[in-house]
Amino acid sequence: MTGEWFTETLHPAVAQRFRVEKVVYRDKTEHQDLVIFENAAFGRILALDGVIQTTTGDEFVYHEMLAHVPILAHGRARQVLIIGGGDGGMLRRCLMHAGVEKVTMVEIDRSVVDLCREYLPSISDGAFDDPRTDLVIADGCRFVKETDQRYDVIIVDSTDPIGPGAVLFTPEFYADCKRCLTPGGVFVNQNGVPFLDEGEQPRTYAKLRVLFRDVWAYGAPVPTYYGGLMTFGWASDDPALRALPVEEIRRRFEAARIETRWYTPELHAASFAVPRLVLDILER
Ligand code: SAM
Repeated sequence: MTGEWFTETLHPAVAQRFRVEKVVYRDKTEHQDLVIFENAAFGRILALDGVIQTTTGDEFVYHEMLAHVPILAHGRARQVLIIGGGDGGMLRRCLMHAGVEKVTMVEIDRSVVDLCREYLPSISDGAFDDPRTDLVIADGCRFVKETDQRYDVIIVDSTDPIGPGAVLFTPEFYADCKRCLTPGGVFVNQNGVPFLDEGEQPRTYAKLRVLFRDVWAYGAPVPTYYGGLMTFGWASDDPALRALPVEEIRRRFEAARIETRWYTPELHAASFAVPRLVLDILER
């Protein structure tokens, strides 16, 4: 594969490709086909079942927006649950919040964690060794069905709704997540790119609306999630959490003393202003 091109197989009608400078690791794990390779523009890239998951070059955009927005909006999150997130980038961002006492991360594939720790260490940057980390190797869908723990923020950092990630887009899974949230808790999930995953998105929002008083979307453009704006699902029973004045978000952010490369309080507030295309999907 070295010297060749890696062509992503996510969308039937379009594909993006990356030149492979070097294959770092390739294996078929118990759950999926895993490859880590180097690319001159994006650094080290992890792909699972032919789909780009993360790159050392742009991971900060996705991880900062999917972690800091719900945690700062919540304002007093102590217990955080991550479903998926094997590379550890989400875990690292959650642990930056001093008020967070424990982050439980439920990842189905131990190989993703082990190989990312070895070959993409900058993404987790020691987060797996933090005493506040509770790593559980299990199916996230099963975990939320069986646990009696409660969480202030639940972040679903999953693969797309194919392969092992498909169960993380079902009404049963969303209902179990709702049950696992403390009152005032926030649920967020990666919800694809509206231009290319249009079918996936309305189904997510409609399923969440049955369970939560406030369901919305926010977004970020992640270069290697091809197709423009990536959207995140947002669900809570408190509509005020996504309408905080920017001054209050700034106060919380400054108090948290977190260093970011993408997230700003202004961007946080603005990210809930979604394009008409996404409003139409939300209203369906
Ligand atoms: N940011 C990425 C994206 O949008 O493509 C997701 C990255 S993260 C590496 C996705 C992780 O979800 C993978 O490590 C995969 O093993 C994990 N995963 C998939 N299905 C799962 C399930 N049912 N339970 C727990 N983890 C799951």
